[in-house]
Amino acid sequence: MLDRKLPGLETSYGNAGLIQREAVHTHPFPRQITEMVRVLPNQGTDIRYRIPALLRYHQALLQYWKYSTPASVKKIESEWQTLIAHCTSEHQTMIEASNADELITRDGWLQLHRSEETLKKAVDTAILDREKGVEHRVLSLEELKALEPNANFDGFVGAIHWLNSWQVSNPSALVKAYAKSFEEMQGTIVESNVQEIQPESGEDGAGWKVITNNETYYSDHLVIAAGPWSNELIKPLGYNLPLFPMRGYHQHFKVSDKNTIHHSMFDMDKGFVMGPMQQGIRITTGAEMTTMDAPKNFGQLKTVLKLAKKILPLEDAVESEAWAGSRPCMPDMKPVIGPADKHDKLWFAFGHSHQGFTLGPITGRLVEELIHDKPLTVDVEPFNATRFSKYFDPKSE
Ligand SMILES: Cc1cc2nc3c(=O)[nH]c(=O)nc-3n(C[C@H](O)[C@H](O)[C@H](O)COP(=O)(O)OP(=O)(O)OC[C@H]3O[C@@H](n4cnc5c(N)ncnc54)[C@H](O)[C@@H]3O)c2cc1C
Repeated sequence: MLDRKLPGLETSYGNAGLIQREAVHTHPFPRQITEMVRVLPNQGTDIRYRIPALLRYHQALLQYWKYSTPASVKKIESEWQTLIAHCTSEHQTMIEASNADELITRDGWLQLHRSEETLKKAVDTAILDREKGVEHRVLSLEELKALEPNANFDGFVGAIHWLNSWQVSNPSALVKAYAKSFEEMQGTIVESNVQEIQPESGEDGAGWKVITNNETYYSDHLVIAAGPWSNELIKPLGYNLPLFPMRGYHQHFKVSDKNTIHHSMFDMDKGFVMGPMQQGIRITTGAEMTTMDAPKNFGQLKTVLKLAKKILPLEDAVESEAWAGSRPCMPDMKPVIGPADKHDKLWFAFGHSHQGFTLGPITGRLVEELIHDKPLTVDVEPFNATRFSKYFDPKSE
């Protein structure tokens, strides 16, 4: 396994640390006029768009908008749910193999609501989602206060407690534990920047040549799982998938007996998460559509912190500068998992957007099953890479 920064140090370092069994719905592009009017001033805490990114990813965004009709979302979600159904069980296998249980809390997380209207809508959906394996409990303000006595819930009306989702106190440490377990099973991890990949034909048949900054490697099969950078690696081979980044920021605050919390709390109407982490209380923002190389823009985080500080006393920041990382997103809100269509023994596993931490283990299992031609735990056809070929001009972007 080649990674230029070693595992768990990029997007998987800074996420909100939730293994989201409740995430049976995707994040469609806003299509209702009221929602578009809300998002357009670009001052929201949940989503912000930057002009250079709109220009650069306009084709992908147009597709995202097209895929976001209610009928299309319904089909997409039914396919997406086939992956989500395995998220906790597949993590459990890896948690046991890597002795990482101390990083996991299996007591769900809290989705806070500021309006009766959004709470009612969420409760109605949660009731229907029971048949999809999602467990929840609706909490009154009193019940919420009893669970998290240090938080100030003024301005909130109630919450949903997602009962069978898990919380990880240090997502980077979990990924590192998985990586260590891989090494204990004779896997090799090398810190190396992949610069080029080339198909290679040798005496034993076709395979791959991988050129890095310090060495050249040869392999039989090759899996591309480079999150938001995946397209860079496969473009020279003639693939141009509409992958686009959605950045998020986080900052930690020191824990005291005045701000200790036991559950991650998501402010549903403002779109940010407050989570108890090993490094402190992690405040995680919603999405900023920006280019990968754009400088950090702390506007969204600043607004989020003002709101978070009304809920919890957050006095001392742990880092002097907030972290930023990019969710790897696809216009149809589904990851790409499966074989590349133009080359043999080339496999894709990226584009998990808002739930890549949740879906890493099931994705790994599926790729292993595909490579070894085993029966598949989940039908991967809905996640194939060719689904965009009819829409995408390979020369653009
Ligand atoms: C603020 C925020 C909150 C989130 N919260 C959650 C959450 O609570 N739950 C959840 O499930 N998901 C969450 N996500 C999404 C999740 O973090 C991502 O979907 C997931 O981390 C993507 O994992 P990945 O392995 O595909 O990418 P990464 O973790 O980014 O890994 C890609 C790897 O590829 C390597 N790489 C790239 N290019 C090269 C190259 N040329 N050579 C060698 N190596 C290379 C990088 O070094 C990196 O290690 C969140 C994301 C953000 C930004």
